[in-house]
Amino acid sequence: MDLRSFLLIFLLFPLVSCGSSVQKSEVKKYVMALKQGDESYRPLIRRIIEDYNNNVGYQVLEFTDSPDAANSPILITKGLENRDGKVGWGQWFSQTERRGSVVPLPGQKTTETTTYSLQVEFDEDFLAANLKEASPGLLNVEIRKLFAHEVGHGFQMGHAPNERDVMYFDISGEKDFSSYWPQVRGFFGLQ
Ligand SMILES: [Zn+2]
Repeated sequence: MDLRSFLLIFLLFPLVSCGSSVQKSEVKKYVMALKQGDESYRPLIRRIIEDYNNNVGYQVLEFTDSPDAANSPILITKGLENRDGKVGWGQWFSQTERRGSVVPLPGQKTTETTTYSLQVEFDEDFLAANLKEASPGLLNVEIRKLFAHEVGHGFQMGHAPNERDVMYFDISGEKDFSSYWPQVRGFFGLQ
């Protein structure tokens, strides 16, 4: 039964289904791939994801070369800043699937699984300009801040009021990540 037909039935039997118990679970597995943009950015993306995971202390982001195997696309867009007045975007998504009987039956369980994913988009000129200024072997700090900020939105974080926080709406200038990494660990229920 797909979600749409389920919802229809759910609306037809609201009183009966209210008494049923639903086992709820959440899946937070983020597999990223470059969906749009120059493939030469792949090594940078791999490095930045590795750096990100190292800072979290857990592998919360995965990277694959195959966009079909990913649920969390990365878009590198030429002219994004001219189009939107921003050098990046980050969004989160969730999809809930219910399985089992709608009306409670003895011995039958209803399960509800919510799967989360994200999408980030970066301005190509911003990446290119900052890559030129990067020291060999070191990740450019502007790219690091932008990636963390947009992935933060992908992990359901809003903007922080403190202008030194990497989740402040304006990512220019020196940023402090000290409250950012614990928030990411908290989102995954990690300590
Ligand atoms: Zn933002």
